[in-house]
Amino acid sequence: MDIRLTVEKLIAYAKAHLDLKEEDEVYTKNLLLSALRLPFPLSGEADVKEAASMDVPDALMSEAALYAKEAHLCEEGAEERFAANLFGLLMPMPSEVNAAFRKHYEEGGPEEACAYLYRLSVMSGYVQKTAISRNLKWTYDDKKSGLEITVNLSKPEKNNKDIAKLLKAPAGDKYPMCSLCRENEGFEGSATHPPRRNLRTVKLTLGGEKWFLQYSPYAYFDEHCIAINERHVPMHVDGRTPEKLLDFVDYLPNYFVGSNASLPIVGGSILNHEHFQGGKHLMPMHHAGILKHYRSEEFPTLDFGILDWYNSAVRMEGENREEVAACAAKLITAWEHFDCPACDILSHTEKTPHNTSSPICRKIGSKYSLALIFRNNRTNETYPDGIFHVHPEYLNIKSEGIGLIEAMGLFILPPRLKRQMAEIAEILVGNTAYDESALNDPQNDLYVHRNMIKALLEGGRAQSKEQAEGRVKDYINKTCAAILDNTAVFKKDEAGRRGFDGFLRSVGFQEA
Ligand SMILES: [Zn+2]
Repeated sequence: MDIRLTVEKLIAYAKAHLDLKEEDEVYTKNLLLSALRLPFPLSGEADVKEAASMDVPDALMSEAALYAKEAHLCEEGAEERFAANLFGLLMPMPSEVNAAFRKHYEEGGPEEACAYLYRLSVMSGYVQKTAISRNLKWTYDDKKSGLEITVNLSKPEKNNKDIAKLLKAPAGDKYPMCSLCRENEGFEGSATHPPRRNLRTVKLTLGGEKWFLQYSPYAYFDEHCIAINERHVPMHVDGRTPEKLLDFVDYLPNYFVGSNASLPIVGGSILNHEHFQGGKHLMPMHHAGILKHYRSEEFPTLDFGILDWYNSAVRMEGENREEVAACAAKLITAWEHFDCPACDILSHTEKTPHNTSSPICRKIGSKYSLALIFRNNRTNETYPDGIFHVHPEYLNIKSEGIGLIEAMGLFILPPRLKRQMAEIAEILVGNTAYDESALNDPQNDLYVHRNMIKALLEGGRAQSKEQAEGRVKDYINKTCAAILDNTAVFKKDEAGRRGFDGFLRSVGFQEA
């Protein structure tokens, strides 16, 4: 590999994909030479056509990382950070990205503006498109709105205890304080903090507060974005949250946006910094119909009802923004204090709150559509991890909390499942002997799946590898559906129906 040729390729790539202007070419090349400790560039013509036609930066990133390793330009293990740094040097400054975003917005509208920032985030290597394309992905046809399931190979699995630890950890001198803080933009990264030199964000105003928009590096779905408060304040869903979501969809009506619930177990993996998630993709829950319509004299223009969905959710739709905001705020606040012992819903244990909700908003033409998923994070002796959390028999598939994305029907399963699914299929088809005592050894990779394997084998051996894989997937599909049922605070039984109805009546709704 000729690193001087790589420099030429990087410049050609940046001109084609990262908005590098001709006036900045020499200057930027000198920055690269300096970072690579090269005294002078390649002389003469270089063949760089290929770089301009690349659709991901991976090949150039690998070249840079390999050179960094061979030339000892960085500590061992820091090669990817080194490569991300080079891409950061090639990129426009945040102010230029904001100006370009606004220009695209004014000239071509929100979709074009988002397409610009998304493409920049992919081409800078920030959104890891190649890693994402390796994820396993399928849909489960449940004869209703369906579920989407992915085995994500790029994100490590966290359990509720890790997440609670993060919430309690003193921020102290940590810089940036967390992985969402605005100080990440351009941050070099460290052994414990991912490189963010190639991250670019754009400014937003939500509910009168300063926020910013960026894309998720893990991209669970199409144009998966994150809106983040400029201040490092904890997640909190309250009566003011709907206004912020409505501001978002007024500005970017091409995206949905939603907030995770704001308590451990039922919230997402980051509780210490207020943020929303959204994107272009419509989630399975967006396709759910209304199970039971309600009306309220206070909100006469709203179309309102309980969703025909796994967990306990309502949806309100209407063109009157004030009514949508007021109705959502009223429900969010009322839910915080709602008790229904028959459904195991207790809003507080002494002063500790358990009730929280997850609001999700989008625009359909001139109509606002806002859904609320009601959550509760209480634990008891039978369910020490959470009454409305994944029940123990399903933890082998998903042990993390069921956050916003899953609650809407898109499951992000841990990377270990890819390997384990294949191993289980081998047992089902008979290529690997079934050894019950070996599976009962906690050290065994398939130990957590021992009951699942037993249950699958009770249905007989599979006739082919394909059939075995199909049955494993089917088991996972039904488990995901059952997990969502676990998270429902109002079950689909008489007590649940009565409880849900009682809650809605308590805020002035009548069955329509
Ligand atoms: Zn933060």
